[in-house]
Amino acid sequence: MTTSHNILSCRFDAVDEAGAANWAREILRSGRRGTISTVNVAILMMMRSDARLKRYIDDSGLIVADGQPLIWLSKLIGKPLPERVAGVELVHELVSVASEEKSGIYLMGAKQDIVEDVAKKLTEQSPDAQIVGIQDGYFTQDESAARAQAIRESGAKLLIVAMGVPRQEQFLQDHWEDLNVQLAIGVGGSFDVIAGRTKRAPQWMQTVGLEWFFRMSQEPKRLAKRYFITNTQFIWLSGWTLLGHLLGLGRTPVQSDTRQPLA
Ligand code: UDP
Repeated sequence: MTTSHNILSCRFDAVDEAGAANWAREILRSGRRGTISTVNVAILMMMRSDARLKRYIDDSGLIVADGQPLIWLSKLIGKPLPERVAGVELVHELVSVASEEKSGIYLMGAKQDIVEDVAKKLTEQSPDAQIVGIQDGYFTQDESAARAQAIRESGAKLLIVAMGVPRQEQFLQDHWEDLNVQLAIGVGGSFDVIAGRTKRAPQWMQTVGLEWFFRMSQEPKRLAKRYFITNTQFIWLSGWTLLGHLLGLGRTPVQSDTRQPLA
């Protein structure tokens, strides 16, 4: 049983990277099905105005915190999460687990040349990896059922989708019943990072909670407004939650129910 905490109206499972990998292994071995969500500050704020995204994440079998500020907040309010679990790292972990379990892997997302490079890099890392299919992440709503069918026909057990939030979640939500995979995860822009097309923030920036700043400095026009809004909202809500905790209120005016994990 995994311990979970409700933080700013989202369930977070108190697992570290190894715990997430173990959870995935268990799913693949048991024949059950489940999704993993990696939630960062921007996604957590997006969930407040996107009911569909919130439903998808609440229904995930495993929800991990992908950001140092979430770990700090969890500790300050007495609901400690062990460590940040990032999407990029999880891709490598899940590919290792699936390779050990001899489960087919499907990669979908980013541009065609990028997903091809990702498949090569992952195979170099895990020579036993059975990558049974790849597709880019650019298609219309009309083409989406055919994309899902290709995944089903590949026989893949692990599906990694990297199309950005909430596109990847919508695809998984729309087609979960048709895909026939056991385990799925959305990993945002991770394929661009694995293929070496975008740089990751230096470790010190990740440690001090400034990864968002690094990303923003790479694409300021597109991301400055987004991060300004989500960071301000996060700081405000965290302040209230912390105050509620210090006053021993336990609940904040912003909490709501979360559901139990499906898997
Ligand atoms: N992407 C995709 N299909 C799309 C749009 C984006 O596969 O229709 C990919 C894109 O190539 C990138 C990743 O999704 O690898 C994340 O994209 P972006 O940075 O735009 O996502 P966001 O920051 O908005 O979550």
